[in-house]
Amino acid sequence: MTDIVCWACATGWQMPAQRADKMPTQPNSADILGSCWECHVFACSGHAERDAASGKWLCYPSVAIALSVSAGVDDDQYSTTRFAKTQDLEQRLPNLAAATLHERRRMRDQTADRLHGAVTSDGIDLFDKDLFADAVGVGKAIKPTAPLIARDLLFNVATVTPHPLALPGRLGKILETLPDAD
Ligand SMILES: [Zn+2]
Ligand SMILES: [Zn+2]
Repeated sequence: MTDIVCWACATGWQMPAQRADKMPTQPNSADILGSCWECHVFACSGHAERDAASGKWLCYPSVAIALSVSAGVDDDQYSTTRFAKTQDLEQRLPNLAAATLHERRRMRDQTADRLHGAVTSDGIDLFDKDLFADAVGVGKAIKPTAPLIARDLLFNVATVTPHPLALPGRLGKILETLPDAD
């Protein structure tokens, strides 16, 4: 019999801070509680949560994308799950909301201008800034390892190579360009 493992554990996605004590040392086969309703991967209880509003098991990468779509930054095709406001996230996915509170607040308070510039430069003028800060905060808290940055020593130009597991759409692109320690 083959073990079923969590896709996010197997591919190196971080667990949000408050679940770090449960970080497995190898792909987790003991803790799979369902497959993600959005993207269908198997996901453990450290990388997914049941949406209290819909009863659907949602992996955290899919929640980050859903927040970006809900904010009006990413296109509808990326997610069918929607959040009307931050309080929705807190009520429906309380573990993820609590564990990412710090990152989400930092995105709201400190880098609002930079995020706003990154989105508007992509041709999006109207979007929900709070929900997009939530999307970026969650994305930063969970994304696997830093992007590869090669710096050309002669011209001092940085080339960012997107992580092969980057989130899709504009959120993924913006996350790849944000420094990890910020
Ligand atoms: Zn996992
Ligand atoms: Zn998913």
